[in-house]
Amino acid sequence: MAEPQFIGVDIGGTNIRAARFRPNSHFPEHKIKTLTLASGGLDIVLERMEAAVRDAAGIHFDDIAAIGIAAPGPIDPRSGTILNAPNLSGWTDLPLQRLMEERLGRRVYLGNDANVAALGEWKFGAGRGHNDVLYLTISTGIGAGLIAGGRMLVGASGLAAEVGHMLAVPDGPMCGCGLRGHLEAVASGTAIGRETRARLEAGQGVGSLLRGMSGGDLTRVTAELVGAAAQAGDEFATQQITEAGTHIGRTVASLLHVLNPSIVVFGGGVSLLGEVILEPIRAATRANTMSVAYWRNCPMVLAALGDDAGLVGAGALAMESVRTVAQFVAGA
Ligand SMILES: [Zn+2]
Repeated sequence: MAEPQFIGVDIGGTNIRAARFRPNSHFPEHKIKTLTLASGGLDIVLERMEAAVRDAAGIHFDDIAAIGIAAPGPIDPRSGTILNAPNLSGWTDLPLQRLMEERLGRRVYLGNDANVAALGEWKFGAGRGHNDVLYLTISTGIGAGLIAGGRMLVGASGLAAEVGHMLAVPDGPMCGCGLRGHLEAVASGTAIGRETRARLEAGQGVGSLLRGMSGGDLTRVTAELVGAAAQAGDEFATQQITEAGTHIGRTVASLLHVLNPSIVVFGGGVSLLGEVILEPIRAATRANTMSVAYWRNCPMVLAALGDDAGLVGAGALAMESVRTVAQFVAGA
């Protein structure tokens, strides 16, 4: 009998990515990347997901044991339902797991994209070998995954680990969720770009490199550009990144008090700025924990799987779910 195979799918507002994995491997055997075309409606997206899975499986489709899907937004992983996906309009209370199982005739498991990326980093990346991991992804938004005592913490309804929506600044800027002052609203890539533009427009950062780098068009000032200016030594840009890092570090300190992890892993596009943002994160974490014992033996490091974390995590979700079900059946 052929070795069972697994498919990981990472669905975002722009792209659907899929890959085939062998058991206990994080190496994507056959990667597929295709446009989501979310504006075409639900059926188009489901059709494209099905095609991506079948393409990634290729001649191995009969050997596929399970499919893991990483999807944005709050999700109920137990019922396999997307409650609300901000970048996929009309995806509210969508039973994606059931719809894909009907199309593919295989077991499908669904997870929140940040949780799934954390699973990938825990099983195969920077968090490997640790039982207690705090994973944060800092990109257009801020997401997280919490592994406590060797288990992913998903909560009673699968809604746990929304670290991006922890309060950072009371009555602060409006968050994408409709409430004010959440961490995501003051420290995500989107927030860094928005806040820096506003300050430049208000006349701050007179001699900043950003004025030249943007060609005088301040709408071109994104977190990526601010990061590049900071890496080039620009003081104003460095200040913007430091502020975001400080907000993140304060939240990490609170989470160390709650979780006491043995490693903190940072993924997402903004984390790729490296030390420019990691240093203020570490400094604020240390300054706000009540004892050095919380961070003395807790490295704060960059994710290891890069862009593939969601895809690899989705493969791991399929493998882990099959294993858990098998254990449950064997124990019953
Ligand atoms: Zn929020």
